[in-house]
Amino acid sequence: MSADLGRRLQAAEASGGAGPARRDPGAVERITVPVWVHIVRDGALGLPDAAVARQIAVLNTAYSGGYGGADTGVRFELEGVTHTDNRAWFRDPLGFEEPLKEKLRTGGPETLNLFIAQMSRLVLGYSTYPYWYKDDPGLDGVVIDWRSVPGGPLRDFARGFTAVHEIGHWLGLLHTFENGCASSGDAVDDTPAEARPTNGCPPRKDTCPAPGDDPMHNFMDYSQDRCMREFTPGQAVRIRQMWDVYRRPAPQGADPEATPGALAERSDDESAGKR
Ligand SMILES: [Zn+2]
Repeated sequence: MSADLGRRLQAAEASGGAGPARRDPGAVERITVPVWVHIVRDGALGLPDAAVARQIAVLNTAYSGGYGGADTGVRFELEGVTHTDNRAWFRDPLGFEEPLKEKLRTGGPETLNLFIAQMSRLVLGYSTYPYWYKDDPGLDGVVIDWRSVPGGPLRDFARGFTAVHEIGHWLGLLHTFENGCASSGDAVDDTPAEARPTNGCPPRKDTCPAPGDDPMHNFMDYSQDRCMREFTPGQAVRIRQMWDVYRRPAPQGADPEATPGALAERSDDESAGKR
């Protein structure tokens, strides 16, 4: 995937677009993501409306570095909330992914559609990647378990960081343990290599010979919520690169052919979006 991203960034720079190399590295460009929250319930079971504002607040704190780490420049603005009462969709939102998203999804590549239903015990969330958008715009979005939203009943995952993690994928970040100890890793330089996901919240963990402890406090690991607190400056750069290539809306009146489109990059990474 990195090869393709590099090619597209070069194309954007050659065509006069604002490539990252032209920016002042000290300035964090603001990206405001419009958000639609789609609450799927089974009768009275499911996310209470009051929790939506709490989840959006946690997203903004996490992506601005409010818990630690870098300010990614990304902020989230709630556009609206939909409600759907559907027992089957609530209990198996991935099994019914197509009809669910076909009915509820809205907006272009820049709009985050956050579907909140109930997932299985093994999975708390699922996201598509930005480079999938061109082939499957109708499936773009993030699905999370309602119990992972701040104040929810999942003891170890009740701070709302499942959404932070999944939206990291939606913005183009890979797991910190991607490719294990191999040098390509997660394609970000300042997250030390990590052989395997972190379970729970160990005092310390170092699974690769390369320098640096495992980034178990990073939002893109699998640690429990109490263990997570940060994105790195390198991840912030990758998010902005991905945004420029795959999600930034075309200027009004621009020739769509002049805008670099996304290539399909379905690969061995297919399941990586599942937390
Ligand atoms: Zn994940």
